Amino acid sequence: HAKDAGRNNYQFYARSMNEAAGERLRLENALRRALASVTPEHSPFALHFQPQIDTRNGAISGLEALARWHDPELGDVPPTRFIRIAEDSGLIQPLGDWVIWETCRQVRRFRDAGIDRLRVAVNISAQQLRHENLPALIRGVLSCYDLSAADLELEITESTAMQNPELTLSILDQLSDMGMMLAIDDFGTGYSSLAYLKHLPIQRLKLDRSFVKDLETDSNDAAICAATVALGHKLGLELVAEGVETEGQRDFLAALGCDFVQGFLYSRPLPADAVIDFVKAHRAGQGG
Ligand code: C2E
Ligand code: MG
Ligand code: MG
Ligand code: MG
Repeated sequence: HAKDAGRNNYQFYARSMNEAAGERLRLENALRRALASVTPEHSPFALHFQPQIDTRNGAISGLEALARWHDPELGDVPPTRFIRIAEDSGLIQPLGDWVIWETCRQVRRFRDAGIDRLRVAVNISAQQLRHENLPALIRGVLSCYDLSAADLELEITESTAMQNPELTLSILDQLSDMGMMLAIDDFGTGYSSLAYLKHLPIQRLKLDRSFVKDLETDSNDAAICAATVALGHKLGLELVAEGVETEGQRDFLAALGCDFVQGFLYSRPLPADAVIDFVKAHRAGQGG
């Protein structure tokens, strides 16, 4: 019966919707508990750090901090999943604060381990930028660890930049005036307007991984990469390519003049202790 089948489909649909909603709620509750359990000695969250390589000389110029969450019951939850839930539930505020504190704590450890000339990039969500005390928070954390604003870079996506443009611009101006580097993340995947972006105090565009992935075989992707690098440079911006996995991709991007590359070709995101060893070995191999 068509009618019965329709009803069954609907029931099936409603059931899977409920399951999805139940799963989301379960994750949100686990995330809330996880955030409440953070102490100075122990955290279910960690940061991993992925090196960024200068294409001109092969040096490691910076690191991107990426959040990780290990839940005793749920196991490792990927950031693509929990960041979204944190953003939708308001939990990105405490989580984002933790990321800023932990980044600076680790940068201080890198320094104390003898690693200098290394800027660390932090991903910032839209809600964090709407908080007018973000600049004051960052200033406080930097001074707590005796770091300067130039040690940090903030990554925001195009859609973040486009939300609430006036407040966003005023906060980005403050952060930039403090001396922080600002980058547009996942560039090319959003709906930002260049007319608006040109007013932002940004220094870098991060070319999204989706264009890099097939650039060796897809001439459209290759054209998008070439055009984006040229556009960025014309606007006076530095280009960072994400998701570089092969030498072919790296060589193509370097030939375009892309300033920095980041990806599994060089390293996956690494725990803090491993990244210290990685940077030291890389620098030793380069003769400093
Ligand atoms: P993103 O900021 O664009 O970070 C780059 C993502 O690409 C990371 O995924 C990284 O592990 C992955 N990646 C890097 N190189 C390669 C490669 O060569 N191949 C492939 N296939 N992937 C590569 P991850 O760590 O899973 O993070 C996913 C997203 O979650 C991030 O994308 C960012 O949007 C968000 N995220 C992670 N940590 C934070 C955080 O602390 N705060 C906020 N607001 N968002 C975060
Ligand atoms: Mg990023
Ligand atoms: Mg990105
Ligand atoms: Mg991305």
